Amino acid sequence: MNDEYSISDITIATPHKVLKDASICISEGRIKDFARSKERDYEVSGRYILFPALINPHDHLFGTYHPKIGEGPYICWLPWDYDLKQSETYTERNKNSPMDVYLFGAYKNLISGVTTVHDHIPHEVNDKYIDKLPIRVIKEYTLAHESSVYDLKWGDGIDVEHKRAVEKDLPFVTHIEEGFDEESLGGIDTLEAYHALSDHTVLIHGIGFSKKDIGIIAKRKANFIWCPGSNMFMFNRTAKIKEILEAGVNVSIGTDSPATGELNILDEIRFGKKVYGDMYEEELSDELIVHMITTHPAKAFRIEKELGSLEKGKKGDLLIVSGDPKKPYRSLVNAELKDIALVVMEGKPLYGDVRFEEIFGNFKEEYTKVTIEGTEKYVVGDLNDIMATMRKKVGFNKELPFLPL
Ligand SMILES: [Zn+2]
Repeated sequence: MNDEYSISDITIATPHKVLKDASICISEGRIKDFARSKERDYEVSGRYILFPALINPHDHLFGTYHPKIGEGPYICWLPWDYDLKQSETYTERNKNSPMDVYLFGAYKNLISGVTTVHDHIPHEVNDKYIDKLPIRVIKEYTLAHESSVYDLKWGDGIDVEHKRAVEKDLPFVTHIEEGFDEESLGGIDTLEAYHALSDHTVLIHGIGFSKKDIGIIAKRKANFIWCPGSNMFMFNRTAKIKEILEAGVNVSIGTDSPATGELNILDEIRFGKKVYGDMYEEELSDELIVHMITTHPAKAFRIEKELGSLEKGKKGDLLIVSGDPKKPYRSLVNAELKDIALVVMEGKPLYGDVRFEEIFGNFKEEYTKVTIEGTEKYVVGDLNDIMATMRKKVGFNKELPFLPL
């Protein structure tokens, strides 16, 4: 069967530019061109905008549970980790299998428009789950947990992991300066001493960054991931984000897990915009925010030739949002779960409004109907069954607000 189709008569934010009354044609999972297909065309006139599907560059899928855990503000992540493991929520979460919890994480991301996520955890932990998920979890990375004497010793050591990243052209991902004790505040100096700061380096949190640290990060062209929700919940502080942006660092926004972060990437960007406004009394631009969940994380994770923007030859990962086509960036920043109208990965629709039934009908995946924020959607797989299994395992009618069925 020829799987080629196009979506037409829609505003497209690539997001480098905005195309009015445009078309996009997908064939064999990739963007063929920006024209109507002769095989099959779907006109989507109305209040819709088409973006590349979103990238969530920082999550811990095994932490996808509710409610949030912890009583901050903490001095660093370590006492939080202790509270986590003593908590009733943690015990309850563990009544679910790791595969179940990974599915919560994948669907949490999918219904907020994300098709690509980074799960910060060693390969030996997530390898067995990520191929069974409905979305893409980045497989190629090297890592450290963070950089202190008390970190969790993930990977083969900072120097070895960073060197491997450079040799294999991969990202080297690490939490950094997530706290204000001496060890945390020395994070950038430690990475510098290990020669582990380069354009391969992806730094998460950085709430302790000094101006000097920010200068070094910019000089080494390291990438930064901002997690404002998690930072404010745990520490009542976040990174000096304006200074980091002004230094020219490639900045993305990530959710962290819902154990500390916002419920999904949509809540996270809105929260980030609010925090930025409170800190600096100026507005963080909607256009920049959209880049922080598309092109910027694609660059940081070295997948920009395939993902992050809509260009001929790239993977057909698409997101259609309900909103005002005259204000495409603002529409995405203000989008709520009900506004996520269609999510496509490599040409295949995974989730979306029932009005796109015709598109879903051309694929042989198994879809089920769910109602999210009062809107009927199709979703790949059986999300209702996943929720029913969870409720059986915990023994009561548990709600997971990031999956509001
Ligand atoms: Zn994290």
